Amino acid sequence: MFQYRDGRLCIDGLALDDIASQYGTPCYVYSRADIEHAWRSYDRAFGARAHRIHYAVKANANLAVLDTLARLGSGFDIVSGGELARVLAARGKPGAIVFSGVGKTVVEMEAALAADIGVFNIESPAELVRLDGVAGRVGRRARIAVRVNPDVDAHTHPYISTGLDENKFGVPMADAPDLYRVAAGLPNIEVTGVACHIGSQLTSLAPFADAMARVMVLVERLAAAGIELAHVDAGGGLGVRYHDETLPSIEDYVATLCRAIPSRYEICIEPGRSLVATAGALLTTVEYLKVTPKRHFAIVDAAMNDLIRPALYEAWHEVLPLREAGDEVPEQRFDLVGPVCESADFLANDRPLRLVPGARLAIMGAGAYGHVMASNYNARPRPPEIMVDAAGAHLVRARESIAALYSGETLLPDASI
Ligand SMILES: *Cc1c(COP(=O)(O)O)cnc(C)c1O
Repeated sequence: MFQYRDGRLCIDGLALDDIASQYGTPCYVYSRADIEHAWRSYDRAFGARAHRIHYAVKANANLAVLDTLARLGSGFDIVSGGELARVLAARGKPGAIVFSGVGKTVVEMEAALAADIGVFNIESPAELVRLDGVAGRVGRRARIAVRVNPDVDAHTHPYISTGLDENKFGVPMADAPDLYRVAAGLPNIEVTGVACHIGSQLTSLAPFADAMARVMVLVERLAAAGIELAHVDAGGGLGVRYHDETLPSIEDYVATLCRAIPSRYEICIEPGRSLVATAGALLTTVEYLKVTPKRHFAIVDAAMNDLIRPALYEAWHEVLPLREAGDEVPEQRFDLVGPVCESADFLANDRPLRLVPGARLAIMGAGAYGHVMASNYNARPRPPEIMVDAAGAHLVRARESIAALYSGETLLPDASI
């Protein structure tokens, strides 16, 4: 939990200023307790209902985050062979892994079958045929759910909306019965469920309820045709409060799913953002204050390569000083920008702050889709990650070195002209 104590912003009792001094800025800091609290809120809300929580690894794939969740008994939703390797490295149980994504390669399928993952969420007829072939070749049966596209508007940012019929995700509802019939007849495929995921940062429950109602029509139709499913995967997508959004609670979200899905089906969910977003912050230092005729800029040492959400989605992140400034520093409206050579390189715009050069700031809500989306643009090493728990602050990913940035590159051979 982030909280001021004696004018200093703390994470679970530790001053972020001290963490910034020890590890340098920019750096990401996560609260293990906050992640655990969010996961347990989901788990408790289901009560006695059969359920599984598969954390969407893409939101934050750091091994310590995965370790934290694996220790609670979480499953994992992966979208690549790289994420599979990360989950296994963090000692996640293979049987509790769901493999999503529209572009699974043969190599990724082989690795997932070798690990004996729980279920593949199939997103196209061609993928189903490929999986059957690969499974036959390696002598395994692949458990599958078809990810259907319920064609509901999630009312979220277009880049993170996935459940409309114009999106690349899932199988159109109208095509799903035929695909299930095909799947049921394939020798190396075992049909176990249905899946859907309609988008991210959803701030109301209606789209979830609509999507589930449509999915259940399909499930009942399949049952009437003799294809019995064991689980319904509702995907992820519950939003978090970055600014002034009003949000349904985890409890109300889970209650909505429990109402929509009859109790004979196990409910699976794939939350990402809502488990980790508010558990993390990106710490940064003000390098320069720059006044132009139109704007006051605070040029900080973090940039769009470290946290791309503002540039990519015009996302709003709260900015908090690590030390509350005194009244002697006047409040002004600042644009927080990084050193990257792009005008899209901003972290926040038009924020009332009391700033002096050297001041340190926390960009809040950076635990999800933060470090995982970081790049090396402008040859900037990616920042370190620190996780705080009851035992203190742990460096769980070192700052990338400059040498590492080009360690896989070579000059041309001497003989070339
Ligand atoms: C991204 C994604 C999630 C997680 O979404 P959040 O909004 O982070 O909860 C879950 N399932 C699938 C298939 C996804 O692509």
